[in-house]
Amino acid sequence: MGHPVLRQNSTPYLRENIGTAEFLNLITDLKDTMADAGGIGLAAPQINEPVQIAVIEVPASGSRYGDHQAVPFGIYINPVITILNPETAGYWEGCLSVPGLMGYVERPQHVRIDFIDEHNTEQSLIAEGFTATVFQHELDHLAGKLYVDRLADSTRLAYTEEYAEFVADDEE
Ligand code: ZN
Repeated sequence: MGHPVLRQNSTPYLRENIGTAEFLNLITDLKDTMADAGGIGLAAPQINEPVQIAVIEVPASGSRYGDHQAVPFGIYINPVITILNPETAGYWEGCLSVPGLMGYVERPQHVRIDFIDEHNTEQSLIAEGFTATVFQHELDHLAGKLYVDRLADSTRLAYTEEYAEFVADDEE
């Protein structure tokens, strides 16, 4: 946080570059960086590449985000989000670009994502609940936004250790 690449609109990824060595290297970097950090999603601007690509992989449970639906590893190129129901729910979010902090953010819980996959095929999916929050968090990165911009209540921003000590148990 503070690096200008995180605050700019990323450019759409050129479809003719999908599948090239440059593309595959970028995907490998995203996947490895996400795995090394124990993250559940990562957007290209977070590794200093301002293009519209994000990767997401949510384990079924046991992560610091508690129990939720699993999302297999996926690559989302030039994704566009449509909110299908504006009703929101909140989760404590963390971000590899805002290390050491957790913040409570409310977001719509029923969205559609239209995107290009790694085979250069147009795809569409529906995301609900926590999964909808994960997609919105990652897609925000492609528009230069961070979750801290979306805190409704600045008292619900905590260091990870304090979150674990004072918040996590109360939220169960
Ligand atoms: Zn993030």
